[in-house]
Amino acid sequence: MSRRLFVNLPATVLMLLVMVGAAWLSYRQAEQAGMQELHSTGVHRLDLYAASLEREINKFALLPAALALEAQVQNLLRAPSDDQHLQAVCRHLQQLNSRAGTLSIYLMNASGRVLAASNWDAPDSFMGEQLPFRPYFRDALAQGSGRFFGIGTTRGEPGYYLASAVMEGRRALGVVVVKLSLEQLERSWATVETPVLVSDDNAVVILSSVPAWKFRALRPLDDAARQALDRNLQYNRRVVRPLGLAELGPQGQDARLVRLPQTGTAEPSVYPVAGRFLAQSRPLAGTTWTLTVLSHLEQVQDTALSRAALGLVAAAMVCMLAWVVHERRGNLTIRLAARQTLQRALDALERTVAERTADLSAANQRLQAEVADRIHAEQTLRAAQDELVQSGKLAVIGQMAAGVAHELNQPLAAVRTLSTNAARFLELGDLSTAQGNLQRIAALVDRMGHITGQLRGFARKSSGQIQAVPMAQVVDNALALLELRLRHGGTVLQRSDESPSPEALCDANRLEQVLVNLIGNALDAVAVQPQRRIHISCSSTAQRVRVSVHDSGPGLPEHVRSRLFEPFFTTKAPEQGLGLGLAISAGIVRDCGGSLSGANHALGGAVFTVDLPRAPDPEGGVKP
Ligand code: ADP
Repeated sequence: MSRRLFVNLPATVLMLLVMVGAAWLSYRQAEQAGMQELHSTGVHRLDLYAASLEREINKFALLPAALALEAQVQNLLRAPSDDQHLQAVCRHLQQLNSRAGTLSIYLMNASGRVLAASNWDAPDSFMGEQLPFRPYFRDALAQGSGRFFGIGTTRGEPGYYLASAVMEGRRALGVVVVKLSLEQLERSWATVETPVLVSDDNAVVILSSVPAWKFRALRPLDDAARQALDRNLQYNRRVVRPLGLAELGPQGQDARLVRLPQTGTAEPSVYPVAGRFLAQSRPLAGTTWTLTVLSHLEQVQDTALSRAALGLVAAAMVCMLAWVVHERRGNLTIRLAARQTLQRALDALERTVAERTADLSAANQRLQAEVADRIHAEQTLRAAQDELVQSGKLAVIGQMAAGVAHELNQPLAAVRTLSTNAARFLELGDLSTAQGNLQRIAALVDRMGHITGQLRGFARKSSGQIQAVPMAQVVDNALALLELRLRHGGTVLQRSDESPSPEALCDANRLEQVLVNLIGNALDAVAVQPQRRIHISCSSTAQRVRVSVHDSGPGLPEHVRSRLFEPFFTTKAPEQGLGLGLAISAGIVRDCGGSLSGANHALGGAVFTVDLPRAPDPEGGVKP
């Protein structure tokens, strides 16, 4: 399957696209879900951390206001030169500071000079210091209260200042200030799980769960801000360096994506402090501060990546499944198409077979009709042939007629003389001589009967039945018919016969006709020759019987030899020959399964040979 998968490039590309798409969708979905979860967790944390911070600040918020209402504080402001009273107020502030756990508590007069302080007896006491430039002082004089984050000018200690004006009617006599340490505020963040920070209105980090971020600016300070810092010594001339936070873009309401660089001096932390974060901020009530919770995106990305991998695997499996189903369907379609093609081929084959069968049966019928025609034609031909054979016979008989008449004349004349003489001897009473004459007459009649009998036998229509025929007997019969011509022509007949004579398979009557033709032609050929000889020989092999008629005639010139068996070919005068003898003879021999040939003999003259199948031995074999 994999080979086909890669061969099918568009399908492969489509699958890859689907897989990549599924992975991307899974990633996006998981990332969105993760971001949402991160967002809601962040909001929850913001609420939690803001509430705890506000609770921590509010714990001390009433302390300066309560002190401002105290009579001894107001009296000291009215009579600052009363040392005893000053001492009492300082001790009071010291006790209060110690009990509350604050950094310091002090009382400033309306011109910004510190009149009494909780650290009155410490070497670095800020008793008598002039701090009219501090914003919390100015705010308290102007609005009755002030809050400020800053670094102390005396000890350089960062802290949160809560200030309340000491009022006499509408006039402010002075300001009571409580300074809280950052540790006190940061204590509420002991259990934070992600980086959290508080930035002031200068976007300078004043509280942070990551100590290295403190007093780093979230955004670069502008000139106006720097000048203000120079005036109010908010960070006590501490260099405020940028944190390097890069804004990557807003992420929903009150949130944005940021990137924090790896700070070289960063202390080991339980959570990541560099990388991409979801930053969620909110202002802290009652302050100019902003609380920011940073949630690292690492986990979201990890989750999204694993979801993307899952999506990829799932899409790959679905693609594979789809491919398998597609392949199966394809195979089914191919099989179906192949089956339909096969069915069509079978139908076509069946149609062809039906057509061919119809053609064949029509051809068969035609063939049968043709065969019937042939049989009929053959029968007609055979009948014609029979007629021809018969005609040939009759022609031979016609040729013999004169001879036969001549042959019969002599005995007839003898019979006439003998019968006349017999009658005379009877009158004379010479019975024995008359009897002798009558006996001679009977012999002559027998002889004439024999002659006519032979002619009748020759003339009769053949049965056409093939049987074993003794060859010598057939030759004898033919010679008997031609005896007269032989005798009168003065032809010397020579015979060479095997003993016993071999038997050929043929129709005896017709074979006799063949030999009459051959011997008759030989007689014609030798008729004009001074030496008239005819040699008839019979020979045989295990399968064949041969009779040859060799004459001492002129032989066969080439133009005659090539046309010997042509019907109506003759070199003889019309009354002597029709040119049918050899044609009929060849047909007869062929019908018997044999052959007739004519050639010039080496010793001169022509030789005609009849070759026939040998009759089987009645005892089961063939004769030697
Ligand atoms: P016909 O004898 O009526 O002419 P055949 O078919 O018997 O018809 O013979 C055809 C011809 O073959 C003869 O006319 C003759 O020229 C030639 N022929 C046949 N037998 C011989 C033979 N023994 N010697 C020479 N020529 C022959």
